[in-house]
Parts: sequence; C-alpha cells; structure tokens
Amino acid sequence: MRKQIAAANWKMNLTVDKAETLINDIVAAGIQPGQDQAAVFAVPFPYLQLAQKAIEGKHNYFIAAENCYSKKSGAYTGEVSVEMLQSLGIQYVVLGHSERREYFQESNQFLAEKLNIALEYNITPIFCCGEPLSIREAGTQNEFVATQLEESLFHFSKDDIQKIVIAYEPIWAIGTGKTATSEQAQEMHAHLRKVLAGKFGKEVAGNISILYGGSVKASNAKEIFSQPDVDGGLVGGASLIADEFITIIKSLK
Ligand code: PGA
Repeated sequence: MRKQIAAANWKMNLTVDKAETLINDIVAAGIQPGQDQAAVFAVPFPYLQLAQKAIEGKHNYFIAAENCYSKKSGAYTGEVSVEMLQSLGIQYVVLGHSERREYFQESNQFLAEKLNIALEYNITPIFCCGEPLSIREAGTQNEFVATQLEESLFHFSKDDIQKIVIAYEPIWAIGTGKTATSEQAQEMHAHLRKVLAGKFGKEVAGNISILYGGSVKASNAKEIFSQPDVDGGLVGGASLIADEFITIIKSLK
C-alpha cells in the first residue's frame, strides 16, 4: 500500500511566533496518522528546528525543507545542502515547485541533480510537476508533464524511484482558488502513473505516492483524496490555517 500524505507548504510566510503557534496548534489536535499515512510540514529554513521540536515523539509526522541545493557543501553563499538537512533530522524536501521553476529558473536537469543528492542523503524528495494554463488550454498537458518526469526522474533505478514522492500541481490551480476537478486530478494522476509504469513497470509505479496540489482546502480535500490515483495533497494557503490543515490531514484515505 503506497503512503497517503498530507503535506503543508508554508512557502515564504509567517514570522517565528506565528509559525510556532501554527504547528503547535495542529499537533495539539492529536490526530494520529495511520501506518500508511504521513503529515508533512514543509517550512522555511529558519523554522526547521522549531518545527522538528514541535513534532518530537509524534508518529508519522515529518518536517520538510522547501528546497535545497544540488551540491554537498562548499562555497555556495546562501544555499542550504541536504547534508545540513540530514544533520537536523529532516526527512523530506520539496523539489521543483513551480515557483522555483518560474522565479529561479530551475530546469528539469538541475532538479535531477537535486533529486540525486537528496536520495544520497536518504531524504525523501517531494518532486513537483505540473503545467501552466497555456499548456492546459492547448490540450498538451499530458506530454508536458511526461517530459518533466522523463528529464528529472527516468535515470533512477527501480529501487530509487520508489523513494520519491511526486506532487502534481497544475500551475493554474495554485493559489488561485481554482482547483482542478477531482476528475481532472484523477485523469492526470492516472496518466502520470502510466508514464511511470512505461519506464519502471506497473508494480513499481503502483508503489509511488502521487499528491495533488492546487487550492486544496478542508472543503474539497476528501473528494480529491478519494480518487484512486490521488495519494493526498501538497497544500499551500490552507496549510496556514490550523483548522483547515487539521481537516485536510483527517481527509487522507
Ligand atoms: P495552494 O498552493 O494550496 O495555495 O494552491 C499549493 C502549492 O503551491 O503547493
């Protein structure tokens, strides 16, 4: 059974006091994710340690970084390595979010390097893919997203690919309040699984968690997560409100 994951993506939000209150309020709700479930909080670098402390001793709660660099260490001023994340006990890292692709020109090839180093340090990447509105309108989203997978993921072995979580986030649905319908999400997730099966085999593809992201909130999480190929969500705006994210964790199947 592949893992069902509710992942918060705080992005560049919150000051330290608010960050601490938010995570403490969510943890205090006492939700116990099941054995095949996880609640993940992707938080800004300065809050990694306070977030780690907030989930201490809680089963199936994890902290993620929102990014990392592709090199082990060295003269890369301002960057954060996976070695640093590992030394803090961080277990997940979000890679290839569309905001990083757009504002920081992160290419599929560069992301392949970041994925490599994350796996080398046993940190689970949440690899984001997804098409812009113009591609959706042209009807070529399937090819577009398949290319993102091919260029960043197809060099992995069957063992390693199963260590990666994929998040499908149509860019037109991020922060817009315009969610993909559960049918659109299912359709794309089934397509992604087919693309993965074509390269790695059906069994391997069936083991990979594929999260949906883009305006997930308490009121639509259950329906989206109930789709057979949707294994939870990567949640931006709604993850900044404790009650919203608590309901979203509870909506995992
Ligand atoms: P949103 O963001 O939930 O605010 O649409 C999702 C994301 O960018 O991960």
